Amino acid sequence: MYNMYPGTYMASQQATLAASSASNEAFEAQQAEHDLRIRVEHLAVVCRAMWSFIESSQGVTLKDLEARMLEVEKQHPDHQGVVTCPNCHRPTGLRTGVCIYCGAPVGDGDPFTDHAVPGA
Ligand SMILES: [Zn+2]
Repeated sequence: MYNMYPGTYMASQQATLAASSASNEAFEAQQAEHDLRIRVEHLAVVCRAMWSFIESSQGVTLKDLEARMLEVEKQHPDHQGVVTCPNCHRPTGLRTGVCIYCGAPVGDGDPFTDHAVPGA
């Protein structure tokens, strides 16, 4: 039967190979996402542990930490300005498109929108 339609057979084999390759790529992407999630969770635990030491030994407050986070964000080479987060109402950088505190989306990508916070 395949001999009667060699072009169709080849196309079918190519489609099967492409589907198998895509399936492998999807699996590898899922593995990479899983590994990345584990690393981020680990870093979050390390950050919380470090914060608990600093907070208890240095008398630093969360407000101090947030102020320093914004300073660090402003020093990033790709810093794009500061806006007030529409969700938590704290000042945050536009660089990542999400609030550095709560993760809410910030900015709309419109270069004509004035996002500036006076004095920020
Ligand atoms: Zn926020």
